[in-house]
Amino acid sequence: MHWKLTSRDSGDGSGDVILELPDDLLQAAGLTVGDTLELFSDPNDSTAIRLTKVVHCDVCDASTAETGHGVLQAQWRDGEAEGMRLCKSCFSFAMSTFKREREASRMFDDEPDADE
Ligand SMILES: [Zn+2]
Repeated sequence: MHWKLTSRDSGDGSGDVILELPDDLLQAAGLTVGDTLELFSDPNDSTAIRLTKVVHCDVCDASTAETGHGVLQAQWRDGEAEGMRLCKSCFSFAMSTFKREREASRMFDDEPDADE
């Protein structure tokens, strides 16, 4: 998705610029007021920038800006929703824990019942 935005000088002599992000961009990118964004120059287009939402892990609070993040999410039939955003390390821990649990439960399922 691309938007053409105009930056303006902050006017405080700092050299900082103000970039107003239109509502349709915020909505399309899933951004809300209070989100932290990182700005990168686009290697393929010197006039373009990339904005990346900085997500912090819900378990260890690490920034996931470099690696991205994993999502553990539920949307229950009663309308309740819950989820966690995890860094790569915490996501790997959760995945290996679930895999170990699955292996352990299958190990007992495969054993023939001695009473039958
Ligand atoms: Zn984490």
